Formats: sequence, structure tokens, C-alpha cells
Amino acid sequence: MDDEAYNGVGLGIAVVIMILFLYGWCNCLLAGARRTSSKGLNSDAIKALPIVPHQFSSSSVQDECCVCLGVYENGERVKLLPCNHCYHPHCVDMWLTTHTTCPVCRAFINPQPNIALQIVVQ
Ligand SMILES: [Zn+2]
Ligand SMILES: [Zn+2]
Repeated sequence: MDDEAYNGVGLGIAVVIMILFLYGWCNCLLAGARRTSSKGLNSDAIKALPIVPHQFSSSSVQDECCVCLGVYENGERVKLLPCNHCYHPHCVDMWLTTHTTCPVCRAFINPQPNIALQIVVQ
């Protein structure tokens, strides 16, 4: 009688452990799926974005990096996004590994930037 009760409890614990294990496993799968769906640009696309010397004379370009809020020095190399916003290359590279949009205007950054189009914009 005692043995039977003990076995019943043991089986119950085993089932609970199995459910918890499956629950954790499903959560891991979901977290993995979420991680890949929120992934940013691939490194080739990030590298393909043009880096240009910053010029204060240009009114269409901001004078500070909106990621680190650092003010550019004249001629400092900045990464220009297709939306015409620019950032420190290391700042925006970090952002684009987890996002596919401009940090300021949320414009979608094309994974295959059209270089010819950007020359026309400039
Ligand atoms: Zn910066
Ligand atoms: Zn922008």
C-alpha cells in the first residue's frame, strides 16, 4: 500500500518534470524564432552603406550622431543611410545588427542598397 502510494507520487513528479521540460523547450524554440525575426541587417548590407566625410556646410545632414549624441568634427567619417541621415559608423553598425530601420526616421534600410540611387540623392 505504502509502496503503491510512493510509486504514484513518483509518477506524478515524473509527469510534472516532463511537462516543465517540454514547456521550457517550447519557450526556447519561441525565443529562438523571435530572435531571428528581430534580426537586423546582415553584415554585408551594413558594410555596403557609404561612409562619407561629414561637412557642417551641408544643411541636409545633422551635426550630431543620434545614437551616441556625439557632435561630429568637420570631415569626420560618418555612415550615410539611404534616408540621408548619418551616424558614426560604429554606432549605426551596432544599431543595424538588431534593426533594419533608421534610428531617427524609421525608414527601412534596404538590405541591398542601391549605390547609384544614393549618388543621385547626394
Ligand atoms: Zn555615434
Ligand atoms: Zn533616417
